[in-house]
Amino acid sequence: LKDDVEEQKIPDTSNNSEDKEDTISKAELSLLSKISRTRLVTTKADIEVQQKNPYSPLHSVKSFEALNLKPNLLKGVYEMGFNAPSKIQETALPILLADPPQNLIAQSQSGTGKTAAFVLAMLSRINPQLNHPQVLCLSPTYELAVQTAEVATKMGVFCVDTHVRLAVRDEVLPRGTKLKEHIIIGTPGKVLDWSLKYKFFDLSKIIVFVLDEADVMIATQGHQDQSFRIRRALVEENCQIMLFSATYDDEVMEFAQAIVPNPTIIRLKREEESLDNIKQHYVLCESEDDKYNAIANIYGGITVGQAMIFCQTRRTAAWLCEKMSKDGHAVALLSGDLSVENRMKVLDRFREGKEKVLITTNVLARGIDVEQVTIVVNFDIPVADKGRADCETYLHRIGRTGRFGKRGLAINLVSKKEADSTLKQIQDHFGRTISLLDTDDYDEVE
Ligand code: ADP
Repeated sequence: LKDDVEEQKIPDTSNNSEDKEDTISKAELSLLSKISRTRLVTTKADIEVQQKNPYSPLHSVKSFEALNLKPNLLKGVYEMGFNAPSKIQETALPILLADPPQNLIAQSQSGTGKTAAFVLAMLSRINPQLNHPQVLCLSPTYELAVQTAEVATKMGVFCVDTHVRLAVRDEVLPRGTKLKEHIIIGTPGKVLDWSLKYKFFDLSKIIVFVLDEADVMIATQGHQDQSFRIRRALVEENCQIMLFSATYDDEVMEFAQAIVPNPTIIRLKREEESLDNIKQHYVLCESEDDKYNAIANIYGGITVGQAMIFCQTRRTAAWLCEKMSKDGHAVALLSGDLSVENRMKVLDRFREGKEKVLITTNVLARGIDVEQVTIVVNFDIPVADKGRADCETYLHRIGRTGRFGKRGLAINLVSKKEADSTLKQIQDHFGRTISLLDTDDYDEVE
């Protein structure tokens, strides 16, 4: 039996043009940022409750005990190493677990604990005695669905009579199947096939509907429409609906409001990146070879932490990686000609510290947040159109090093001409000095 579900894997954006800047889909960016992270992202920003359902609980919780979870579920939460709810969870969990159930739209940046929150809600709502799907979670990609199912399996490890089923591309079921699992996690096309077309399960029996990464969902062709078709088959009075997004704009909110009736809307604003804890330097280099030597010096001279090196093109990135490897340095390359799977592998290794240096191109680096990175090297200064400095990208690259009160170091490799133009623009824009670094003397940077 062959489903006519379209290929839902993240489209491979790799191509052979070396001088082109890498491009990346929203779906992949979100996935990269997810897997490049091992811990919760904490922020000092406050939760904003934007719209209030008058019946929804007002309080926030400071502990998981306060939620009256099933003992085995609470055990699973602790087994995952969670001590206390994250900022978004403090407010989201009482709403998600409320009786009667409340609908929720929640937005916060990736890594703040949204998935853990809704997985907890999914696991706590099901009745394991009823052997049919009761919870449905829609993910925009195959990879995300797999990740979410892993979290559910892990958190539900002590809920032995609770079962999760993936509804994704390579899962094929014989006609006439009736699913018995309690939780279905899948991509919209496959879920539509399994429910409305083949009747493997009944959407009207779903009591919790989760739509994850709404921003990625609407950026993917056809997914919005499929989501609506699934949504229409739910029985609104009996179904709790929750929607999550990492970003917040009019288009996402319009979609969110169309999916979720009478929601409470909560937001956790992104903490501003800042250059406060970061020392910024530049090294004068007139050629790529000069730049290479500067990097070799930096690599030899600085011993702590991990470094990321940003190049403008794939060609430069590949050249640099090859040269550094030949010289015996353990470096990793993350660029667009790798398959999605390989990019994830590269990131995993870097995150585990197997390589100290990650070389990458502009665009791919956007979603990546590796906490232990203390040095950022701009092999090429980010420029926008007409050769003007791209200050936003600069901040985004550099801002990641000085997180969590740690001190960061940024080193820009520039020609004399660039030092006087682009670099100066960046300096003026942020009002912070970028000082010349003498690569023979690293005492001043460490
Ligand atoms: P999001 O869905 O917003 O991207 P996740 O739920 O995936 O965030 O959480 C990001 C990371 O933080 C994951 O590694 C997750 O295991 C961890 N995490 C989530 N909630 C907590 C918590 N309350 N305490 C500690 N770690 C947590």
